[in-house]
Amino acid sequence: MDGPSGSGKSSVSRGVARALGLRYLDTGAMYRAMTWWMLQQEVDLADPAAVAARCGGPRIDVGTDPDGPTIHVDGLDVAGPIREAEVTGSVSVVAAVPEVRARLVALQREIIGAGDIVVEGRDIGTAVWPEAAVKVYLTASPEARARRRSAELAGSTVEAQQEAMARRDTLDSTRKTDPLSMADGAVELDTTPLSLEEVIGEVLRLVKE
Ligand code: C5P
Repeated sequence: MDGPSGSGKSSVSRGVARALGLRYLDTGAMYRAMTWWMLQQEVDLADPAAVAARCGGPRIDVGTDPDGPTIHVDGLDVAGPIREAEVTGSVSVVAAVPEVRARLVALQREIIGAGDIVVEGRDIGTAVWPEAAVKVYLTASPEARARRRSAELAGSTVEAQQEAMARRDTLDSTRKTDPLSMADGAVELDTTPLSLEEVIGEVLRLVKE
């Protein structure tokens, strides 16, 4: 399940995994965990060579239960901190460093290889697991995406969200290594006019086809 931020990937992926009794992997949480650690370590994020040199440092453990996904860095629960504004504002820069991607993609492939799973991200169908049985590319209008995000984050306006998301989308879709794009064979689903249940139903239909 690929797509830009706010397209509904997390809720849809978790719902589909629950309905099918499968595991669920949030790859964005892994890039966020790496970014959180880099910030803690005061690595200069403007220096890709410094980020590359340090990215083997943290141990990142991600849990795959769709009812309670977990994320730990060196044994510390970082589920809360990785959603904070500082991480959100820096994650695309860290995720653009090829060495970071190589390390996290290897971890993701290990988890995916262990058995059937619903995986959400930006490059799952294009780079991480192109042989996936079902590939979905979720989209939504910029307004709908910003509205959903600002409803999740107290104290943030729709306009501020829309601006921050546009910046992140540009970085994610213009980076050199595995940019956000629709995979060959992916089905595009515009979630703007649909309820969460409707989108989940549509994906389940694709799975059963
Ligand atoms: O999905 P989420 O908003 O948590 O992702 C955070 C960031 O992680 C994205 O903006 C993107 O920069 C990066 N990411 C990525 N590849 C993925 C998943 C996330 O580059 N597969």
